[in-house]
Amino acid sequence: MNNLYDVNNIFAKILRSEVPCNKILENEHALAFSDINPQAPIHTLVIPKNSYINFYDFTKNASTKEHESFWKLVNEVIEHYKVEVEGFRIITNSGNTGNQDVPHFHIHLLAGKNLGKMIG
Ligand code: 5GP
Repeated sequence: MNNLYDVNNIFAKILRSEVPCNKILENEHALAFSDINPQAPIHTLVIPKNSYINFYDFTKNASTKEHESFWKLVNEVIEHYKVEVEGFRIITNSGNTGNQDVPHFHIHLLAGKNLGKMIG
């Protein structure tokens, strides 16, 4: 585990079942659940089960199996909501510049309405 990882962040608590979540799907290495403050009709978070702080930490340090499981689950969430054709947006915030609030790597999958232009 990255020694800068905060074991008390809210997603770590969700993974330890100390805090409830609305689970959508999971597999061996990843969990998908609804965002508590949805910004679109569909707003799902996908997180790895192991402790990675952000996208850079995950892509640099996760195993091939973890990468595979993570992106497979993202794909299954897309299929779960049947938005393969109409579309969606995937966002990952990182660090201060990216305004990341929860320091456990996650992607936001947003869909269900036109999401407008990307920034601003
Ligand atoms: P970030 O800004 O780190 O990319 O996004 C963190 C996201 O986590 C936010 O969209 C926020 O609504 C969501 N969030 C924060 N606390 C909780 C929680 O306890 N449960 C769930 N399901 N989502 C949360």
